[in-house]
Amino acid sequence: MKKHNYSAGPCILPQEVFDKSAQAILNFNDSGLSILEISHRSKDFVAVMDEARALALELLGLEGKGYQALFLSSGASLEFLMVPYNLMKENGKAAYLDSGTWATAAIKEAKFFGDTVIVASSKDDNYNNVPKGYEIPADADYFHCTSNNTIFGTQMKSFPKTDVPMVCDMSSDIFSRVIDFTQFDIIYAGAQKNMGPAGTTLVVIKESIIGQSGRAIPSILDYAKHVKAESMFNTPPVFPVYASLLTLRWIKEQGGVAAVEKLNDAKAALLYGEIDRNPLFKGAAATEDRSTMNATFLLNNPDHTETFDKMWKEAGISGIPGHRSVGGYRASMYNAMPIESVQVLVDVMQALEKNV
Ligand SMILES: *Cc1c(COP(=O)(O)O)cnc(C)c1O
Repeated sequence: MKKHNYSAGPCILPQEVFDKSAQAILNFNDSGLSILEISHRSKDFVAVMDEARALALELLGLEGKGYQALFLSSGASLEFLMVPYNLMKENGKAAYLDSGTWATAAIKEAKFFGDTVIVASSKDDNYNNVPKGYEIPADADYFHCTSNNTIFGTQMKSFPKTDVPMVCDMSSDIFSRVIDFTQFDIIYAGAQKNMGPAGTTLVVIKESIIGQSGRAIPSILDYAKHVKAESMFNTPPVFPVYASLLTLRWIKEQGGVAAVEKLNDAKAALLYGEIDRNPLFKGAAATEDRSTMNATFLLNNPDHTETFDKMWKEAGISGIPGHRSVGGYRASMYNAMPIESVQVLVDVMQALEKNV
């Protein structure tokens, strides 16, 4: 039986992405070769990379606006250090918003490079909200924020207005909602949350920000080198890039990010509506900061845990236990999750209410 997959990452992808990925492993583009055995410099794969880069920019509304898209190896965690390496000047300063575990991890790496100012933190609230009303030092080389806090289930609904270059980790909500993406100088996202399999990270970078830090940067960590090589500085992760391209094509077929956002809003409204209505449950995150991607919630009475866990497992639901730092449950409703799967979870929550 196909499961209702609520995994936070790696995550659900559209069924056609699985089907076409499987086909490409057996026989890519009718070449008689697997995508796993062809040269990354072959015409067919260069076309994949070019289309993926162009489509990423198109879907974000950044086509022709002075941005480059890269599909790099390794995860978003490498960007935690590539960003300061490329943007923080010697004796420079960076400003960070501490809104959760991933933001904290990014801050830790930035500290290797220089003065790292935390403009605000919701740590004392166990990150159940996104800090607001902070000042960004005007002399910072950049400001870094996390658009969606995957673990705590909070999401930035607006972004600060600042003249300081803005960098955003969008790993868990990239392509899920329409934002004015031109306000960012760097956007990065590990593929495995909402775009593809693990193994590649999308980096969208404004050309004018490249090469400004004055640091000597090892080649593999230098955005300038990756841009110059059109994301082929070294062997790219061919299969994750191809599967990501299939997802991007799927998003475009759905009507683009705006259409996907509409569905994401409907899914979130359905689940949060039940969390708020059902007296057995409560939401874990501050209402105004609730993530449309990762809904965190708890049972009011822990005695119901065993029954509830049995019920959702029987309904074919997978991957909803919460992260250990929040407890309870986390339902990740990424782009590819159909609203029918959310309805199955809501039905289980209502059945529990009737049962106890
Ligand atoms: C998962 C996640 C990361 C880490 O991604 P890796 O690809 O595992 O390095 C970083 N930021 C956010 C917001 C995430 O959700």
